[in-house]
Amino acid sequence: MIIAANWKMNPSLKDAGGLANALNAKIVQPVTRILLAPHTYLIPMSIRLQGSDIRLGGQDCHQAADGAHTGDVSAAMLRDCGASVVLLGHSERRINHGEKSRLVAEKAKQAIVHGMDVIVCLGETLGERHAGQAEQVVIDQLRASVPDEIPRGQLMIAYEPVWAIGTGEVASLADIAAMHDAIASELPKNQRGDIIPNVPILYGGSVNAENAASIFSLDNVGGGLIGGASLDAEAFDLICESARSQMLKSEFVK
Ligand code: PEP
Repeated sequence: MIIAANWKMNPSLKDAGGLANALNAKIVQPVTRILLAPHTYLIPMSIRLQGSDIRLGGQDCHQAADGAHTGDVSAAMLRDCGASVVLLGHSERRINHGEKSRLVAEKAKQAIVHGMDVIVCLGETLGERHAGQAEQVVIDQLRASVPDEIPRGQLMIAYEPVWAIGTGEVASLADIAAMHDAIASELPKNQRGDIIPNVPILYGGSVNAENAASIFSLDNVGGGLIGGASLDAEAFDLICESARSQMLKSEFVK
């Protein structure tokens, strides 16, 4: 299971240092933790997390390798600052910056060229869910946001219903299960007809210490993308602990 902390535009550098230390003090293997830090924090966090099993990631990258793109950051720059993962197509980027799935796919190609793993975010709005379009919207985003070139093992998907992000409202277990199953059955297909196995599908949207265990127990849920609760070391540790218990239980059942 993979648990990714999306710090967004938080916290202060001082608090980030304390938070990273607190997370690093916990051992949650075999769970993989990814810390998606603001770009300006990547170097200080990579120094602080030297020797740690916590992976570092950026929250976005530009689709070009380099050039006249004031204020933007390339995949190579993220990698040079210690990131090995990049989050792409988060709904806050799709909504606040007008990013379309085609652009997300271009960014993913750049990240892959530079050897980074990508987490591609998908999710429907409340209006789309109420109109009965949730699955179609998410599958359309998946098809358009994930380039065929993406090598096996470098892709993660995050299903995040837009209306569940930062609202305290979580999708029902039945809705999460149905969407993750739909994504999982779509993933092996690409235009080249290749099989892309073992793509973890994370759920995101108001995951907390109380609801994590039931979400992680669902088939085709490969972990979580955690926003608000990732700024609280205790809550984040408990979420990782739920993922760990689920992994150990699945191992035992096998
Ligand atoms: C997110 O920003 O990706 C997210 C899931 O946020 P939250 O956990 O706060 O809903």
